[in-house]
Amino acid sequence: MILALFGPPGSGKGTQAKALIKALGIPQLSTGDMLRESIKAGTSLGKKAKEYMDLGKLVPDEVMIGMIQSRIQSADCSKGFMLDGFPRTVAQASALDSMLQSAGLKLDSVLSFEVNRAELISRLAGRLVCSNCGASYHEQSKPPKKDGICDLCNGPVMKRPDDTPSVVENRLDTFLASTKPVADFYQAQGRLKLIQAEGSEGQVFERIMKAIGGAPKG
Ligand code: AMP
Repeated sequence: MILALFGPPGSGKGTQAKALIKALGIPQLSTGDMLRESIKAGTSLGKKAKEYMDLGKLVPDEVMIGMIQSRIQSADCSKGFMLDGFPRTVAQASALDSMLQSAGLKLDSVLSFEVNRAELISRLAGRLVCSNCGASYHEQSKPPKKDGICDLCNGPVMKRPDDTPSVVENRLDTFLASTKPVADFYQAQGRLKLIQAEGSEGQVFERIMKAIGGAPKG
């Protein structure tokens, strides 16, 4: 199964992806995580990407397309995969279609996470993330049991540098301007499935499983 999780920052894509990995047995390909790893590793791609990410802007299409193209050829993607944060532009969506088509594959579903803007801002303003395993927390609604320490892996839990109020506003505006046309692209092809992404993690997960037909692992 090949899925794309689609939605603005803070809509819960990453959290749901973690649950879907277990349920479906396919890897999560988060372009944001890949870029953050490149920054951590100090690669030239990471240095270039950081300039865009710090401003809440999109990293150029050719960088992102190349990154995904090589990632989906890895052995762990042979049974399918879940794209998280890609495609974010119509150029990326078209490139994805071509690369899948030439491999005899197709994108099964694009799940669009629907959350209102005020709720997104409040989620992002309080968001905390484990910099080791990527688990997500919230200062008020879901703090880690021990301050600053991940419940799952004991890694350091911190704020993402691009979760500051002004960058958050930019990221939401960028999403609306560049990424909304991607939803329209998939909608026109009848491949977009709207997921009401407000409510508890469990409720959202159930809605997703229903939308994709509750495919079991394996
Ligand atoms: P995310 O973790 O998905 O919110 O991504 C963090 C940042 O990485 C974004 O604000 C962009 O600067 C960059 N980024 C991640 N995925 C993409 C993509 N598909 N296209 C362009 N930029 C991206």
